[in-house]
Amino acid sequence: MKTIVIHCFDPRASEIPQAVADYFGDEVYPGENILDEAGNRIGNTRTLFAVSNAGGRALSALQSVATMDYLFKVQNVVVVHHSFCGATAFTPEALVNEFHDHHHADISTMFDHDSLAIEHFEESIRHDVELLRGSPAVPKSVKLYGFFYEINSGKLTEVVRDVPA
Ligand SMILES: [Zn+2]
Repeated sequence: MKTIVIHCFDPRASEIPQAVADYFGDEVYPGENILDEAGNRIGNTRTLFAVSNAGGRALSALQSVATMDYLFKVQNVVVVHHSFCGATAFTPEALVNEFHDHHHADISTMFDHDSLAIEHFEESIRHDVELLRGSPAVPKSVKLYGFFYEINSGKLTEVVRDVPA
């Protein structure tokens, strides 16, 4: 285990972990189960783990980063946002207000508003890498990367890289 990829749960973006593995070139993905003599699954050769959520946002993935670092050792955290993402179709205020109208519940103070919607891809990717770098849940030695993924071509573009000296 060395790399966590955070990406959107949109099925059109499901090839993102493979695309990131190909980009880095030294990852094992998807890998295979390691069996003991009795056939029990005692491990897996995969080195790159994916976390998916709405928009592929860093905020929702912090618990997974901290947990994976405890269980294994995280070396790289990669945030990937993708073209034609549903998170670009609304504003944070619209999400909060409509949720309140439909469900009579106030979620306005539950989330960082800049993590609720994507208005500009480069800004959202930079925002999430900065959020990771500033979070106590992300070890300071971890290398951070931010990518944009074009869902039709499958092209991955590196937008930001934050590698500690
Ligand atoms: Zn999406």
